[in-house]
Amino acid sequence: MERTLYHELVQTSLRGATLSDELCLQILTAPEIELLPLLDAAYQVRKTYTGTTVQLHIINNAQNGYCPEDCGYCAQARSSHADIEPYPLKPDAEMLAEAERAYESGAYRYCMVFAGRGPSKRRVAQLAKLIQEIKSRYPIQVCVSVGLIDEESAHILKDAGLDRLNHNLNTSEAHYPNICTTHTYEDRIHTLNAAQAAGIELCSGLIVGMGEKAADIIDVAKTLRQFKVQSIPVNFLLPFQGNALSEVSELSPEYCLRVLCLYRFLNPETEIRIAAGREVHLRSMEVMALYPANSLFIDGYLNAKGASRMRTIRMIKDAGFTIEGDRSVEDLLKQEESILTGGDPRDVIKDIKALRPRMQRQ
Ligand code: SF4
Repeated sequence: MERTLYHELVQTSLRGATLSDELCLQILTAPEIELLPLLDAAYQVRKTYTGTTVQLHIINNAQNGYCPEDCGYCAQARSSHADIEPYPLKPDAEMLAEAERAYESGAYRYCMVFAGRGPSKRRVAQLAKLIQEIKSRYPIQVCVSVGLIDEESAHILKDAGLDRLNHNLNTSEAHYPNICTTHTYEDRIHTLNAAQAAGIELCSGLIVGMGEKAADIIDVAKTLRQFKVQSIPVNFLLPFQGNALSEVSELSPEYCLRVLCLYRFLNPETEIRIAAGREVHLRSMEVMALYPANSLFIDGYLNAKGASRMRTIRMIKDAGFTIEGDRSVEDLLKQEESILTGGDPRDVIKDIKALRPRMQRQ
């Protein structure tokens, strides 16, 4: 493919112009569009708006299970038989302690996720109090994911200091009935409209690998572009045994990277997050995702473990990126290393307990 195509992609994206569906499809699927120059083009756009920084997010699963909805990708859905340990809503003290830990870990944003169709008015009032408390104690951005909400609830949360609402579209309108039957794509659009009307920043993304076509992925990218969402988490389906969607469509690391590049070109100024599934689906090419994307989760996902904080922070440092916030990469690495070794970070020799964990005491 001629070099001019990649140059054109950069220029079009920086001008804020959209791409034709046909070109989007080529970015996702045409082998003549080579991966390396494509990543370089996406990086030029990413660097223009977000430099070389990476935002770290920590997600807190405020309650586990008990959801009446049937989203086929979710281990907390009523339709799921995944082997999770359900628990009711965590008390505020626990949520506050976890906010403190997120801040100490260098997280830029703390995201609390509440399972369920949507919160009652009473729950919204409780949540508003908790948000106020977190914001008064820690200089951290706060995001919540609470299911469907109306404009009145959105205003209450905004007044409490909420920075962002997460509400993923997940897939296109056409594909939506295949992933969930208890609410509609339209319901999700209403929630995004309500939050935006209240002045809350939007975080809304998708899940790749749920049997959708490339056209569905393009459709979601263009809808999010119309909303001018501030943040797009790009998830790659983690196929939990027991979920309705427990078999992931064939996803290669290259395809995942192409999706991230496409989302960058179509949403040049947006925070693009490499979300759930990066370790599983990007595999040895995970670090390349930092070129189109500028954000990721540390400490795992809602119901799935992720790479260790140490590995993620080291990956960021090794590739020459920095972390957004008031903690440097070096600082965070030192902290993690001393946690692992229990003291001086240079002290890496295993002690006898580590070498012979099954040794019988004399
Ligand atoms: S994604 Fe949210 S609404 Fe859907 S089943 Fe899971 S917790 Fe419930």
